[in-house]
Amino acid sequence: MKVIIFLGPPGVGKGTQCSLLSARLGVKHISTGAIIRQEIASESALGLKVKSIVESGHLVDDKSIFECLESTLNVMKPKQNDIILLDGIPRNLSQAKEFDVLISKFSSKVDLVLSLSADLDKLLERFEKRWTCSSCGKIDSIPTGTDVANYVCSSCEKMGTMFRRKDDEPETVKRRFTVYQKETEPLVSYYADRNNLSIIDGLRQPEIVYAEIVSILLRK
Ligand SMILES: [Zn+2]
Repeated sequence: MKVIIFLGPPGVGKGTQCSLLSARLGVKHISTGAIIRQEIASESALGLKVKSIVESGHLVDDKSIFECLESTLNVMKPKQNDIILLDGIPRNLSQAKEFDVLISKFSSKVDLVLSLSADLDKLLERFEKRWTCSSCGKIDSIPTGTDVANYVCSSCEKMGTMFRRKDDEPETVKRRFTVYQKETEPLVSYYADRNNLSIIDGLRQPEIVYAEIVSILLRK
């Protein structure tokens, strides 16, 4: 299998790119949330342990996340030509080292690291325009200065239903960006030293970013 790791600050559009890559290229997308949910659903001993951690409101520890990841890979049984895409793992240097060990058990290695980059200021501008419909869940980009109370949702066409999700508020974005910079961004140089890093400007139109990712995949 080919292993790709996706890096990038929250809100840079990793989720969108992962959806496009799995829908169009059949890439197998592995996210932290998905492997935890899958393990809980399997009702294994590990699943029950993780379920009690989640239900107690605690963060799932690194060791359990890696156990879930190994279990997911065992169930998935990736074939030689499969491409797997990791999003959210590894999220710090010690996880990156641990992941190298885990993936070697599957006779594989990290083939490519895609880092979607974005300035905090530009990200904040993007979030400033991001509103969610309380009625249908649609996310619309609304220009700053628009009278949001009288805005009509582009999907369900109701008026005055748009609100800002907590995750999209400037303070939340800034806090998550700082955590990313401190914890995860050191991985950019870790993988650059191993010659398998590509940096991509993440703040362009999703289709343009996607086209660049595909051209990188074709070269590898
Ligand atoms: Zn709506």
